[in-house]
Parts: sequence; structure tokens; C-alpha cells
Amino acid sequence: MRVVIVVFQDNTDIAGVKYLHAYITSKGYNSSVLILPDNEPRNINAAIDYIVRADPDVVGFSAMSYDFKRAENFAKSLKQRFYKYPFVFGGVHATADPESCLETADIAVRGEGEETFLALLEAVKKGNSGSITQISGIVLKDNNKIIHTPVRQPVVDLDALPFPGHLPDNIYVVHRAGIRSIKEKAVYKRYARYEGVFLSIATSRGCPFSCNYCSNSMYKALYGNNSVRSRSVDSVISEIKAEVGGFKNILYVNFTDDCFLMHPAGWLDEFSRSYAGEINIPFVARATPRHINRENISLLKKAGLRWIFMGLQTGSDRVNKEVYGRSATAQDFLEAAKLIREFRISPWYDVILDNPYETEEDKLMTIDVLLGAKRPFQLGIFSLDYFPGTELLRRVNAEKIPVPKLGEKSYTKFESSLINYYVRMTASLPKCLVRKLVKMRNSLLGKQLGILFYCLTLFIEPFIYVWLVFQSNDFRFIRSFKVIKSFYRRSIAKLFFRDIA
Ligand code: SF4
Repeated sequence: MRVVIVVFQDNTDIAGVKYLHAYITSKGYNSSVLILPDNEPRNINAAIDYIVRADPDVVGFSAMSYDFKRAENFAKSLKQRFYKYPFVFGGVHATADPESCLETADIAVRGEGEETFLALLEAVKKGNSGSITQISGIVLKDNNKIIHTPVRQPVVDLDALPFPGHLPDNIYVVHRAGIRSIKEKAVYKRYARYEGVFLSIATSRGCPFSCNYCSNSMYKALYGNNSVRSRSVDSVISEIKAEVGGFKNILYVNFTDDCFLMHPAGWLDEFSRSYAGEINIPFVARATPRHINRENISLLKKAGLRWIFMGLQTGSDRVNKEVYGRSATAQDFLEAAKLIREFRISPWYDVILDNPYETEEDKLMTIDVLLGAKRPFQLGIFSLDYFPGTELLRRVNAEKIPVPKLGEKSYTKFESSLINYYVRMTASLPKCLVRKLVKMRNSLLGKQLGILFYCLTLFIEPFIYVWLVFQSNDFRFIRSFKVIKSFYRRSIAKLFFRDIA
């Protein structure tokens, strides 16, 4: 039985879909994944032609909330040329707002999809579509009535799932109206982040926290205490060994876990020994300030931890607690940042701007906290977005606070305002200069200088990044150069409109 799953991301980091693809393939289904990275009509037509030719028994659509409109429009266009029951939506958006999917699709899968999607395929294979209403974890229309079946609890034993694979068979990208395998070197380099020098692996699913703006709050509400699960160290190391052997260009292992340091001390200890002994490639991890301590940072640094991503989000403890539902304080962040610097790990700190609940005083606190953190660091600056299914969206709706609708702005582009510019300057300009500019912010001269120095910031930032890359590679020139080249080559290629044929 043939299945096609369409994904709407513009890169090959599709871990959830790779897991699903590996799982149903291991159960004997003939699965293909099609990545449709943009809205170009010729690519949409090529994707539809591919599906018509493949004549699948089931078509799945995996979408995040910000690409849901594209997914919906594509499903509608496909329906005009090809349709077999059922069209199935899955992914974060189908979990957050399943009913919106049913305007186009027949079924929405809520939560992690492996077992639910398999149960659906088995019902279709047996020609028993009547039994679909008995499958847990879905939402569907039955005689114009919307039925929510009971929540399916997530897979507990993550080790039992097949490895998703770095470059699996039967995953394609629609590129220039052609259907290209991601195994083609040029295609992979074009669509993988950083040209594929990162090997992305998850050692767990779920996050111990439930921040009000994050989709994890929705999974927490769905699964309760079952939402956080870990793999064994053996399983993680085996997966990395299986992949690294085949791809010589991998320069970092990227642990995509929401909080890698949430693993208990015994797990981290076993991992560190195995990783240092059997893999020995620099790795990247994400953590919250409260999980960082001297013991685990020292252990993981010896094992190969070289980049750490950590969220400050705001310097205001009030906003962190009352608006974002985060328990870490500015002080927790600063202590963690101090340790990160002490162990010479390259840091990447996330900050969220454009929050209607923040006063000017709150924003100034963010600047102050960042100026208190040891440098160098890279900033990831985001504009607050309001995703379906989150507590934050419920709150702004209930309080009738006007906020941009999903898709009206990009969460990667913050508003142009002096105070936002000062936040960005905290990583690159002399601290006393940033403080001075902040003090002058209400005068005409202060505003002009703010814009001038913001331009200087944009010029300095690449040098900080280069330094952090060198530090993360223990100042080995060739390795560092390869990373920098992979990072900038895509940007330069885009700039000059050069692309693969
Ligand atoms: S800590 Fe990060 S991943 Fe976890 S809920 Fe908060 S924002 Fe989401």
C-alpha cells in the first residue's frame, strides 16, 4: 500500500516526519515524503503531478501552524486532480487546531503520529473505513458532525522506534519543477541547514516546562506527565554511529531536544563517557538556565559540548513568570551564562521582543541583563507570535488585546524600534556605549546615534559568530573554516541568486 506525505518546510530538518516515514516503512508500507519548500506554481504543479503518478492510497499533509495555509491551499489544489479517502493532516497544527484541518482534509491526527497513522493505514488497507472512528488520537467528520476520539498516549519506549535516518530513502524535494532525492549531494547541500554539517538527533521527546507561548504547553495539556520521555544512551550512541560513518562532512552533532540537560545525572554521566569514547565530535545542545550547573557543564564539556542554546526571553522576572509561565529568573540566566563562559562553550541566547505585556521598564531590564552576561555570545532575537493551542493566544483573545494574526508577520523579524535595536547591540558594542545610547534614547541626537550604531552592530556580528565558531572547534582552523563556509555560502548564493540546476 502506497503512502505519500507532503511537508511544507523549506529545509530537510523534518525530524517528526522522518520518524513517521521510518515507522510506517518498517511496518511494510511503501512510504514517500515530498518536501514542497515554496509556493512557486511550477513546484506546486510538479508536486501534484508526482502524487497523481504515484497514485497513493493515503495522502498525509504535515504542517506547522505558520505553514498551515500553504498546506491547506495545496490540499485543495490536489483535490481537483486527485482524491482518495482519506486525506490526513498531522503535525503541530493538526494537534493545536484539528477542526481547521477538516475544512480540507478528512482526518486530523492529534499528537505524536506513529501509532495513530499506522492504525489508520491498517483500517484503510482492510477496506474498513467504518472502523476509523474507533481509532484513538484523531478528529474527523462523520455525517457533518465532528468527532474527537480519545487522546492516544504517546510512545513510551522511544528505543523501540526505528532510527529516522539522516538521509533516508524515498524523501524528495520539489526543486525547479523537478522531484529530486535528498540523497543527491547538491540537493542536500541546498536544502539542509548549514549545508548538512549538523547531524540532528533527539535523545528525548517533550519538555519538562510548559511556557505559555510554546507548543509544548499544548502537548503537556494533552499528555500530562507522559509528555516527557527519554531514549537510552545505547540507542542514541548507536544511531549517531550508524549515521556519522556514512557522512564524512558532519562537523557537529546537534541534539534537538528542547532541554538536553533535563536528563538525570546518571544518564548524562553514562552519555558523556560513551560519547567521548565512541563519537568524539563537537556537539550542540539546548538547555534552560535552571538545568545548568557546574557538574553537568563540566562533564558535557569534556564529552564535546561546544555550543549551548539557552533562553532568556526577557530580563523581566514579572513577564517571564506572569506572561510566559517560565520559572527561571534573570539571576538564574546570569549564573548559567557565567558557567557557560567559564567553560568556554559558545553560547546562543534567545530573546523574545514585541510583547504587548512588556512595559518600557521591562524592555530595559532585558538590555540590562544581557549587558550583565559574559561575552562573547550570539543572540537569537524573535518577535512574539501567538500560535494556536497556546495559553498565550487564549489570553490575548480573552483580554481582547490586538495582536498580529498568524502569518501576518514572521516570528524571525522583530519590529524596527530603537529599544529593540539596543537589545541587539548588547552582544556586540561596548557596554558603556550601549548604556549611554539607552540613556539618550529620547533626544534627537540619541535617536540618530542609535540608528548609526545599530548599523555598526550588523557589521560586527559576523565577526562574533566567526569567533564563536572557532572557539567551538577548539580553534582548529580547517574545521572552523568549513563551518563558516557552509553558513555563509547559502547566504551568498541567495544574495547572488545562484542556485543548483
Ligand atoms: S523551555 Fe523551551 S521548549 Fe520548553 S516549553 Fe519553554 S519554550 Fe518550550
